[in-house]
Amino acid sequence: MKLKHSYPDSWYVASAPQIDPQPTAQGALSADVCIVGAGYAGLSCALQLAKTGKSVIVLEAARIGWGASGRNGGHVGTGQRADQFSLEKWYGKDVARDLWRLGLEAVDLVTSLVSEHGIECELGSTNIHFAAKRSHVDELKDEVEHLRTHYNYDLVEGIEHSELGDVTSGIGFHYGVIDRGARHLHPLKYCLGLAQAALDAGVSVYEHSAATEITTKSNHSIVSAGGARICAQKVVLACNGYLGNLYPDIAGNIMPINNFMVATEPLDEDMAHRLNPLNASLSDSLFVVNYWKLSNDRRLLFGGGETYSDQFPSCIKSFVQPKLLSIYPELKNTRLDYGWGGTLAITRNRMPDLGVHDGHIYYAQGFSGHGVPTATMAGKLIADAITAGDDDFDLMADLKTRKFPGGPRLRRPSLIAGMLFYSLRDRLGR
Ligand SMILES: Cc1cc2nc3c(=O)[nH]c(=O)nc-3n(C[C@H](O)[C@H](O)[C@H](O)COP(=O)(O)OP(=O)(O)OC[C@H]3O[C@@H](n4cnc5c(N)ncnc54)[C@H](O)[C@@H]3O)c2cc1C
Repeated sequence: MKLKHSYPDSWYVASAPQIDPQPTAQGALSADVCIVGAGYAGLSCALQLAKTGKSVIVLEAARIGWGASGRNGGHVGTGQRADQFSLEKWYGKDVARDLWRLGLEAVDLVTSLVSEHGIECELGSTNIHFAAKRSHVDELKDEVEHLRTHYNYDLVEGIEHSELGDVTSGIGFHYGVIDRGARHLHPLKYCLGLAQAALDAGVSVYEHSAATEITTKSNHSIVSAGGARICAQKVVLACNGYLGNLYPDIAGNIMPINNFMVATEPLDEDMAHRLNPLNASLSDSLFVVNYWKLSNDRRLLFGGGETYSDQFPSCIKSFVQPKLLSIYPELKNTRLDYGWGGTLAITRNRMPDLGVHDGHIYYAQGFSGHGVPTATMAGKLIADAITAGDDDFDLMADLKTRKFPGGPRLRRPSLIAGMLFYSLRDRLGR
C-alpha cells in the first residue's frame, strides 16, 4: 500500500539512497525559525541558519524532497530564468548586472555545498541549448555575443548548424549555445544531501507535518501543523508550487504548473554517446521547453510537456514520448522505464518572488523552472537576511512580482489561455 504523500515512482527515487524517515511534529515546539517546505529553498535556508547558531524547525507536508526538488531535470543553469536583455529593459543595466552575478553565484553555491558536505549527486558540467526554430537563431546568437562582450562571460559559445552533429544526434535544431559554466546533477540525491547536512548541523526536520495555519503576534508567530504548534520568531515559507492556501497574501504572485519526465531503459554505450557525446545537460528553445541528460547508468532522462490544471495525464510516458521521439526518432523501440511529474511555480515575468511580510514571515517561490540554483540561493539569502540583513535579499525582494490577474482563485483560466497559445505556437513551423 502506498502512503499518502509517499515518493513518486521516479527513476530518482529508485536510484537515490534512503534517508531515515523523520518524525511527525507533535505538541508544543519552539525554535528561532520555523521553515515550511523541505525542498532546496527550505533546506538551504535551514542549513545556513543552523551554521550561524539559530535553532531551526523544518515542517514538510510529505517527505524530504517530495516536491519539485526531488523530481526535476537536474539542470543547474547560469544567470536567471529571464535573459539579460529582458532584465536590462525591466530593471536597468546595473540591476541586470547584479542579477547575472547572483545567478553565477547560485551555481557556485550549489557546487560548494556539494563539495563541502560530500553530497554524492553525480555533479556534471556543461549545458547545451538548441534553437528549435529557425526564427530563434538570431536571438540566441545575440545573447551569446551580449554575454561575451558585456558580461565578460566567455564560457558561453555558439555552435553553428553544421557542427551540431558533434554534440548530439538529435534532430530539428538550427543552432546551439554551449555554456561550460552550467552544471547538472541528480536532483533528489542533491536534496537529500542538503537535508542530511542540515540534520547534522542540528536542524529538526518533521515529515508528514503539513502547516495549516500561521498566526502572527507582535514578535513571534505560531505555526499549526496537525497536533503541533510551533512558536518561532521568524517563519520561512518555502512551499513553491505546493503553497496552496496556506498564505493567501503571496499565493497570487505565482501560478502552479505541472511538468513531466521519463527515464528510458539503460542505453548501450554507443547509443548514449551518440545522443549526448559531451555528457552535458541539453535543452531546446521551445516555449514548453524540452530538456534532457543522461543518468550515470546511461538512461536518457527526458522532460517535456506541461499541464495547467491540478491533474496529471493518466499515462505520463505516452504524454512525454512524442516529444522525445521528435528529437530522437532512433529511440522508437527503446523502453520507457519510468514516467513522473511534478509541480513548480512560475511568476509572470519568470523571476523569483522573494520577500518578507510583517517583518517576520519570509518567503521565496516562483523559480519558474530555474530553481535548482536559484531556490538554493534564495534559501541562503533569506538566512542571511534573518541573521544580519542582506543586500542581495533586498535586490531580489525589490524586483516586485506582478500578481496574476484574478488572484489565487481566478488566475487559472487566463493563464491557461495564454500558456496554451504559446504551446500551440511551439508546434507551428520549425
Ligand atoms: C518536472 C520538473 C522539472 C524541472 N526541471 C528543472 C531543471 O532542470 N532545473 C531547474 O533549475 N529547475 C527545474 N525545475 C524547477 C525546480 O525543481 C524548482 O524550482 C525547485 O525544486 C523549487 O524548490 P523549492 O524548495 O522552492 O520547492 P519544492 O521542491 O517544490 O519544495 C516545496 C516543499 O514544500 C512542501 N510543502 C508545501 N506546503 C506545505 C505545508 N503547508 N506544510 C509543509 N510542507 C509543505 C511540499 O511538500 C514540498 O516538499 C523543474 C521542476 C519540475 C516539476
